[in-house]
Amino acid sequence: MVSKDSNSFSHNSDSSSIISIGFEGTAHTLGVGIVRDNEVLANVYDTYIPPEGGIHPRKASEHHGDVVREILDQALNNADIRIEDIDVISFSKGPGLGPCLRMVATAARSLSNYYEIPIIGVNHCLAHIEIGRLVTGLTDPVTTYVSGGNTQIIAYEGKKYRIFGETLDMGIGNAIDSLAREMGLPFPGGPKIEKLAESSNNYIKLPYSVKGMDLSFSGTMTKAINMLEDGSPKEDIAYSFQETIFSALTEVTERALSHTEKDEILLTGGVAANKRLRNMLEIMAEDQNADFKVPPSSLCIDNGAMIAHLGKIMYESGVRHDLMDTQVRQKYRTDEVDVIWRKD
Ligand code: AMP
Ligand code: MG
Repeated sequence: MVSKDSNSFSHNSDSSSIISIGFEGTAHTLGVGIVRDNEVLANVYDTYIPPEGGIHPRKASEHHGDVVREILDQALNNADIRIEDIDVISFSKGPGLGPCLRMVATAARSLSNYYEIPIIGVNHCLAHIEIGRLVTGLTDPVTTYVSGGNTQIIAYEGKKYRIFGETLDMGIGNAIDSLAREMGLPFPGGPKIEKLAESSNNYIKLPYSVKGMDLSFSGTMTKAINMLEDGSPKEDIAYSFQETIFSALTEVTERALSHTEKDEILLTGGVAANKRLRNMLEIMAEDQNADFKVPPSSLCIDNGAMIAHLGKIMYESGVRHDLMDTQVRQKYRTDEVDVIWRKD
């Protein structure tokens, strides 16, 4: 299903502004976004839903290849521009699943080559942060980035986005989706687990795994699955699982906030949709006198607009990539990128 973004605006006719297009394709979602200045002109995406089981990287990449043309056309149409109007093309260089990254990078390279438009490969996690800063107005937040494959607590220090804490095994969304699958609930499991959890307040103790500033979810997930097999009610398991893993995330976010002495928290990624998680972070933020904000959901999930926005600010700050430098990086780390576009 092709989804249209409700946050699109019609563009102005200022010819000096930069128009940037972004291709996202690190995992399930193929997205194309177009931005001009600080406006999202289009943000169209399509998510691969596996018929059963977890994500199969090659099948997801085939999906991306199948829909990319249609999504691109729709984005251009929504933004009311032609490819020739575009000043810079960006794509998600990583981190992510190899076949998906390669498929989307190939699409971006072909366009760049054919139309002779500069190309920039961007870090997916940084794109979440930068679009979040843009739309929430937070200037220097601690970012809690929670998605299917990624879970990181990130803050800016000394020209880099540093990882203050992260998962040591699986992404928090994958842990939730795996538990949901065991309950017979199809992808995406997050909203279904959230709904189940709302009808329980019976906490059953689960392993709570904070190791230093890092997190781990697989032990908690395995125990929850064992409880399911032993016949505990699904609602109680869903509730206890959310309480446990979201408390751990809130604890690490609070410590990162206090360590960095920042006073803003940005929550983003697909799991940011969860009301209980928002609620826990909000209570903590209030205690700490910090501002807490979450971007609109179309800009929290994996999307092309965030890639376009980061590509645009990198391009404006002078970054240029040769076509030869556009290899994808499955394990592209958040703290590898020199953040030359921030002046603080
Ligand atoms: P992303 O990887 O950022 O595209 O986000 C997808 C992940 O977000 C999947 O693991 C979903 O299950 C998860 N997700 C979506 N909505 C919710 C929700 N309401 N609660 C928890 N997880 C969610
Ligand atoms: Mg993401």
